[in-house]
Formats: sequence, structure tokens, C-alpha cells
Amino acid sequence: MEIIKGIGVSSGVVICPAFLLTEDHLHIGRRSVNVAEIEAEKQRLQTAISLSSDDIRELRDSTTRDLGKETGAIFYFHLGLLNDRELLKAFIGGIEERHYTAEYTVHKALREYGKHFLEHPDKYFRERIKDIYDIERRLLHKLAGRDRIRLTDADGPVIIVAKDLTPSQTAALDRKIVKGIAIEAGGQTSHTAIIANSMGIPAVVGLENITHETVSGDLLVVNGYSGVVIVDPDEVTITEHKKYELRVQSYETKLQGIRNLPARTLDGEEVKLMGNIEFPHEVDNALEKGAVGIGLYRTEFLYLSAEREPTEDDHYAAYAETIRRLGGRPIIIRTLDLGADKYSPFLDQAPEANPFLGCRSIRLCLQNIEMFKTQLRAILRASVLGDVSVMFPMISTPRELRQARFVLNEVMDDLDEHNIAYNRYIRVGMMVEVPSAALLPHSYVDESDFLSIGSNDLIQYTLAVDRGNQRVASLFTAAHPAVVKLIQNVMRAAKRAETTVSLCGEMGGDPEFTLLLVGLGLRNFSITPHNIPQIKQVIRSIDSRDAQRVARRVLSFETPQQILNFLRDETRKVLPDLFRD
Ligand code: PEP
Ligand code: MG
Repeated sequence: MEIIKGIGVSSGVVICPAFLLTEDHLHIGRRSVNVAEIEAEKQRLQTAISLSSDDIRELRDSTTRDLGKETGAIFYFHLGLLNDRELLKAFIGGIEERHYTAEYTVHKALREYGKHFLEHPDKYFRERIKDIYDIERRLLHKLAGRDRIRLTDADGPVIIVAKDLTPSQTAALDRKIVKGIAIEAGGQTSHTAIIANSMGIPAVVGLENITHETVSGDLLVVNGYSGVVIVDPDEVTITEHKKYELRVQSYETKLQGIRNLPARTLDGEEVKLMGNIEFPHEVDNALEKGAVGIGLYRTEFLYLSAEREPTEDDHYAAYAETIRRLGGRPIIIRTLDLGADKYSPFLDQAPEANPFLGCRSIRLCLQNIEMFKTQLRAILRASVLGDVSVMFPMISTPRELRQARFVLNEVMDDLDEHNIAYNRYIRVGMMVEVPSAALLPHSYVDESDFLSIGSNDLIQYTLAVDRGNQRVASLFTAAHPAVVKLIQNVMRAAKRAETTVSLCGEMGGDPEFTLLLVGLGLRNFSITPHNIPQIKQVIRSIDSRDAQRVARRVLSFETPQQILNFLRDETRKVLPDLFRD
């Protein structure tokens, strides 16, 4: 049994077999062959080994010629592996005795062989693990020539184990099959983590070496609350986690009981809880969880999941469906936030050294006016179907907001010319997610009908911590005094200008920040639907005057740890049975 600690990013507990995705997403499932197929399978393996040996010999010779004998010598180790009697015995034994496929026996035997290297006290031997994986990949590719296995090939409930998943790969996962996610990369608010949460799949990220420690078919426990993954749990651990799973389920059922009750504090302050979505069908789940509308529709997922560049009609169809599902409830459609980690194959984007600081989001739209106009036309056309607002992401100067509004007006004029109906009075807002906007919010309130604080990016840019990088994940925190001060600044400016303000980052879905946010005056939350019941439970247990007192205290602290400890204690005082871990 092995316990690996990461960051829990989507709550829930699950016990299931692992489904390991190698970097190029060749999955090696635990498959078996019939007795009659054993000889053919052994032959496939022999062919793969001999083709791989030929390749390696060639590589050894060319590397020795071009880069010298020492570099070429690396490949002697690879050739040695392919001739290793113990290893070959394990490969063949897997097929003959256990009826594994050639892929699975290669994967299993090499992973087990690799474990001895990983545990070796000498660094030289530990580093050889990369060569072992290289050989595994090479053999699998040779075998894949006949039998390619894809991401979608899992045939039962599994936990995906991978180095990383892109947001679009995560969004494409089949929820009926994928019961949990355990990945090496990522932080609390990486888009992959957000998608896993909105899909309600328990997920842990930032798990060092999990792809080395796991073989497909290994039983895993994923605890999305505590951020722990257990490989090969023993009987006691399995029983404990099954009980834990039941406690989670009964807690969630209890929360469903308040689904139709208002999100109102004990002293009568109304709070609006809206949902964040990436796809139209997610509206149903958001309503199911008690959302009173959609406060953030991340429309770029239309691009990330499509096989061709979305047309105006594709946009329109998605918005119309979303609005129809909402049955008159409000929705804020955010314009495309592509770039950085949300790369679209349809855009001819030059590689950038720092894509999060580069041509992302509104900047990308303002440099691709036709693409931007296509989306705005579709939003405006859909605006007559319901209570629709539009919002621009990542505004960092008033000029950008003005430019975006100018393009919107141009599209309106064009629609007028063609007699196409739209709501001329559509509410136009912006996200405050860059420190320059959070420091000077008064520069925007006159030209924005509402503001929405994007705490995920605001934290990333304020603290200079990449939100998706597990190596700096411990530095990423909403409890940093600088972040709290910026949010307070936006709240104050919005209040003075009587501009509605909401918060749509993951911070809003964390119950430990609810007292602070309500205390700072926030009355509009837009969060991952999965978190709505729990946040509602906190809101219904607090008094807004106490929340103000808590916020004042928080503003006097100097370190994230002080703030976090204090908020944790205060939250537990009002809600002792709050479920964490
Ligand atoms: C944010 O940055 O907080 C936000 C809500 O936007 P996204 O997570 O899509 O960047
Ligand atoms: Mg953002």
C-alpha cells in the first residue's frame, strides 16, 4: 500500500481500478487473450522486440557517429533491457500463464522492473527509470501498429492516472466510466481541476510520481477532500474508505434537502448563488444543485471541443440551448477566453514564452476581430431569448474595455442594418481578474454595468504563481492579505458606484471563505454547481454582521496562515459539522 499526497481539487471519495495514460495517451488496459491466441500474442511480442532492437541499434550507431561514443553508449542499456533474460521471462510468463495481452505484459513487467530502479539509493540507477519508460513506449508503439488503444477505451469504472490532462481532454471524459482523476500536474484552480469539479468527478492533482507508482488495474483510493491517493489499499483501508464514501453520500443527500430554500443569512441578507458552466447541458445540473442562474458561461469550450472552427450558427445554437434550459433565469455569457492553457487548434497562434501573460483572452479577441464579431453577433441574436448579459474577460486597461464595447456596438449596427432582432440594452460587464483592474476599479465602473471578480486569475497574477503549476501550488492561496485587500478595494468601488459585483473564481466555492466574502459585502456568487449546496449551508448559518466583524479581523492579519486559521476556526464555530476530511 502506498499513500501519495497531492491537492484535492474536486471533492468526493472513490475506490476503483487505475487506468494509466502514458504521455502520448496510449492506454494499456488489463486485457486478456484466449488460450488459442497465446502463440500469436507471443509472436507479436517477439516481432515488437526485434523491430525495437533494430531501431535502437540504428540509433546507437548514428548517435555514436554524430555525438560520440559516450552518448551512443546510452543505447547499450536499452539493448541490454531487450535481451534481459529475467525481463523476457516475465513478458512471456504474463502471456503464457496469465493470458495477458502483449501490451499489458510489457507494461506490467517493465513497471515492476522499474520499481527496483526507482527505490535504488544510487541516483544513477534511479535515473535509469527514464530509459525503462522509453523502452516501454517503444515496444508499445510497435505493438500499437496493430492494436491502438485510445483514451476512450476503458471498459468499466476507472480512475484516470496521468501526468497531465488538458482541459478539453478532461471535458471529454465519460462520467459513466471515469470515476476519479489522479494526475501529477496542476494546482487548485487549473482549468483541468475546475472541469473535474464541475463534472463532479473526485480529483487529486499535484501527485508526484503517481504515473510511476501505478500500473493499470491497480486498485486506487482517490480522496478529493484530503488530497490523498492510496495505491493498493489494504482491507482495513478499503473498509474505512467505503464507510467514508457513505458518509460523503449521506452528507450530500442532507445538503440536497436545502436545495429549494433561499440562500439567506440568519439576519435576512439575500445572497444570489449562480453556477459556472462550460457546456449547455451543465445547466440542468446547476439548477439541480440550486443555482438561480448562470453567472459564468465559459464559452471557449465550444472551441476546445469542436472538430472545426465554430460558426456563428454553432455559437448561436449553444447559447439558445443554454438559455432554453434556464427557463427565464439569468445568464452571463463570457466572451472567448482562449489562449494560455486553453489552446485552440483553429487559431494560428505563434508560440509564446509566457502564454498567461501573452495574447490571451480579450487581447486575442481584439487581435482577431472577425472571430470576436462572430461570437458577439451570436450572443446578441440570442439575447432576445432570455435574460442575457455579456462579459469581457481579462480586462487590464480601460482602453481594452472601450475597444471591446466599440466592437459590440459595431455588431449592433450591423444587426440593425439587417433588421435582425437583439436586445439593445443588454447588460455589459467585465471580469476583474488582473491586479491593474482590481487596484483601480473606479476607472471601469462608469463603462461597465457589472463587475465579476475572477479570483483564480487575480490570485495568479497578484502572487505571480502559475495556477496550473504543481511545483508552486503551495504558494497559490486566496488567503493572501494582498488578494483580500484587492477584493475589498473592488467591493468598495462597486458599492460607491452602485455597480453590481459578483465573484466567479473557485474561492467563492470554498466554504472557508464564505464568511469573509459576505463580510466584505459580496451578495452574488457564481461557483461550480457542485459547491452550491455547501456554500448555501454556510450562508444560512451565518449573520452578516458577524461576517463583517470577521472580514475586519482578516484585514488586520499579515500572513495567509493567520487568515486561513482564523477563517477555519470561525467557520467551524458557525457550522461544526461542515464536511472537509
Ligand atoms: C477566474 O479567473 O477566476 C475565472 C473565473 O475565470 P477562469 O477560471 O475561466 O480563468
Ligand atoms: Mg480567469
